[in-house]
Amino acid sequence: MRLGLDIGGTKIDAVALGDDAAVLARVRVATGFGPDAVVRNALSAALQAAEAAEVSVAALTSVGIGIPGIVDATAGVVRHAVNLGLGELALGPILSEHLGVPVRVENDVNAASLGAFHLLGLAGSMAYLNLGTGVAAGFVNDGSVWRGARGTAGEIGHIPIDPAGERCACGQIGCLETLAGGGWVARKWGGEAELPVLEVFDAADAGDERAVALRDELVGGAAAAVRILVLTADVETVVIGGGVSNIGARLLDRVCASLDELARGSQFLGSLELPSRVRLVPPGQPVAAIGAALAGVAESEAIGA
Ligand SMILES: [Zn+2]
Repeated sequence: MRLGLDIGGTKIDAVALGDDAAVLARVRVATGFGPDAVVRNALSAALQAAEAAEVSVAALTSVGIGIPGIVDATAGVVRHAVNLGLGELALGPILSEHLGVPVRVENDVNAASLGAFHLLGLAGSMAYLNLGTGVAAGFVNDGSVWRGARGTAGEIGHIPIDPAGERCACGQIGCLETLAGGGWVARKWGGEAELPVLEVFDAADAGDERAVALRDELVGGAAAAVRILVLTADVETVVIGGGVSNIGARLLDRVCASLDELARGSQFLGSLELPSRVRLVPPGQPVAAIGAALAGVAESEAIGA
């Protein structure tokens, strides 16, 4: 049995996976802020998940962690996880010492990519397009994450696509994230809704012009992201996940319609059959935690090899 922990900005989602990769137990714990709190709560989440699955920690094959920030997967070190208050933390070695099992640390989007690949039963190549507060992608090829030379593969949220757009936190103008990032949409929309992007979609359906403009901007940004991912990596499948993907078919149908529209003006784009390559991540599944557990397996196998 292996554990997977998805460490997010507010909560840690932990799962215990059986040998057939079925979820045997799932617990959630508040993340806290700063290195001491994150380590303490990650340990607590791991122990609670093991207890819920009725297995002793010593009997675990591995623990995998998905966490935002720049991750050195080999060293198990996470850097610049700003929302968690982490500058640099050797999370893998610290947790491994406390738990006594191999711990693998992976970037959260890469972990979710592995989870999506597994949950959808995919083969070959896949890009996971995470539409959350920000926009980022992960690549999986034949079941393995492709991180790039320095771990920045898939940081497509910071590809500028609108020269007349807004200045992004990264310093550039009109980044993809300023159009399709849930955080940007929420700020532009305003209000206090718990699910602001969903509120925008509902208001757009009701005919609110400002909501229609924001929704179409988001959809156009998501379609642009799909086009970028296929044109750069020619992945067979693009899976849309992240909080914004919970809007479901209402989002997917519009993204596919937008891709169809692009293809009408270009035989070349049409030949790529983009709409048929886009899917949504299965709803209600702890995708990133499952992926983190699977990343942990890969590491323990490497150690044993
Ligand atoms: Zn940017």
